[in-house]
Amino acid sequence: MVLSQTPMSTPHLPLSGLQARPPWQHEAPVALLPHVLRLTAPNPGLMTGPGTNSYLVGSAATGWLVLDPGPLEPDHIDRLWQAAGGDIRLIVCTHSHADHAPAARPLQTLCTKRSGHTPPVLGLPSAPTANAASQFSPDRVLADGETLALHDAAGRVSFSLQVIHTPGHAANHLCLLLADGPGAGLLFSGDHILNGSTTVINPPDGDMTNYLDALDALDAACVRLGLGYILPAHGHVMDQARTVIARLKAHRLAREAKVQAAMQARPEGTLDDWVALAYDDVPSAIWPVAKRSLQAHVERLQALRHANR
Ligand SMILES: [Zn+2]
Repeated sequence: MVLSQTPMSTPHLPLSGLQARPPWQHEAPVALLPHVLRLTAPNPGLMTGPGTNSYLVGSAATGWLVLDPGPLEPDHIDRLWQAAGGDIRLIVCTHSHADHAPAARPLQTLCTKRSGHTPPVLGLPSAPTANAASQFSPDRVLADGETLALHDAAGRVSFSLQVIHTPGHAANHLCLLLADGPGAGLLFSGDHILNGSTTVINPPDGDMTNYLDALDALDAACVRLGLGYILPAHGHVMDQARTVIARLKAHRLAREAKVQAAMQARPEGTLDDWVALAYDDVPSAIWPVAKRSLQAHVERLQALRHANR
């Protein structure tokens, strides 16, 4: 789930090779790189931007990893199978929201039926705080820091993706990191970092302090693995990954300062009073959704105040 209309970064053109801004299409995948395909689900909207980006990583020699198979859209599920030439080895969900994970099991079933091979569904189980539409239990739980590998016919590792836990947008959110040479690595950011919109932090499954801490962890990963590009679940590729992360964190903290000022100006106020002050730069039609992130800021500020007592 995303909150549109608050652009926080300008897309840049790629350094080389990477097709950063191919036009949106749902019918067929776009090769961002020879080994990275993007297939956008036909679910565009206020909360999903151009639609959910499913990514495929791999090659004909290794088979493919599918990241975020998306919503329950039979055509999209079929296109994912086609895009992988029928050879899907792993299915990974960044988190369990309705625009990301529901296609995982039908895609797995399709693979079994058509190819006789059953790829595991991987990710983190939904937390007790997740709502009814976001229940999820993977075949295997991915550990923070573990590596997923795709091998060629000789058993050599051709692609390896590191898992990093990033709670905040959802308690069971993770990102995948593909080291691809200095500055050329890719961060598959799910909904933790979006292009053209700011992700909603919806308590209790969402948590603002976890969200900000995970941004720091992603920045450290960018340095460690030479990640230069961010591939979000909604919107185009972004380059200058560390700059995007720094800008996003500054945006959140600037919003938090406005929330704090609103709470000080109206100490007896409600969320409705504070949203009008703290989100006065956002159209009021967005306020019902903004109130969820506002709630997350309020809870974080109260926790910080409690800790400083
Ligand atoms: Zn999403």
